[in-house]
Amino acid sequence: MPDATPRTPHTWRPQRFMVIVAHPDDADFGPAATAAAWIDAGSEGRLVCCTSGDAGADDWRTDPLELAALREAEQEAAARVVGYSGVAFLHQPDGALANDLALREQLVREIRTFQPDAVLAVDPETLFYGDGGVNHTDHRAAGMAAVDAVYPAARNAMSFPWLARDGLAPHVVRRIYLCWSNHPSAWVDVSATIERKLGALRAHASQIRHPEALEPRIREWAREEGEAIGVSAGEAFRVIVIEEDADEEEGPTHVTPPQTEGGPPTA
Ligand SMILES: [Zn+2]
Repeated sequence: MPDATPRTPHTWRPQRFMVIVAHPDDADFGPAATAAAWIDAGSEGRLVCCTSGDAGADDWRTDPLELAALREAEQEAAARVVGYSGVAFLHQPDGALANDLALREQLVREIRTFQPDAVLAVDPETLFYGDGGVNHTDHRAAGMAAVDAVYPAARNAMSFPWLARDGLAPHVVRRIYLCWSNHPSAWVDVSATIERKLGALRAHASQIRHPEALEPRIREWAREEGEAIGVSAGEAFRVIVIEEDADEEEGPTHVTPPQTEGGPPTA
């Protein structure tokens, strides 16, 4: 049944956000135009690539280390187009990314260092894109790893206790924004920044076989996702609110404890 609820553009904006993805270029096919819009409005963004895309070639004779170096350079150039303040490469293996404790510790370290209000990632529940394709195993692993790093590990002092001992205090990420989701719940107006997304994508020259076909495809996606909120270009997200904002605390899902009760929250 079609959803008849009128939708408006999503306006919540994090002061600091972190995009966590599997490969160089994922963030630019993903939430790049939203990232650019938030950065233009005053947010600071950091990009974390779990792998350096060292399996992203058609010729088996390709040197994976040379390819990784090329793809890191492409991602650095794309990140400058979007406006991120920095990019981290975690150097996990492309095509073999696992949501394991080693990756989680790396991500917790990134989150506690940068202290984002929101983390953006690929929806780990997207196994298939509707009936039109398979979501790469690395994308799912990176998405799940991002979720598991945000909650509870980054905020839990007892997770990887050596991090806190080294001065990386627990950090609460307030929201998760999941792109490429089959269950979108928020649409960001990116009419003003869709060109930056296209510019960032052009930086990934090693990955784009048909550049002339890419631009119309990206514009069509953005047009479709913008339609939901009546704008020319949009990006859709499944938004998970972990911590309500202070001025939203009277909502039915949030119980404010009496002021006289001390102690940390139980969850
Ligand atoms: Zn990818």
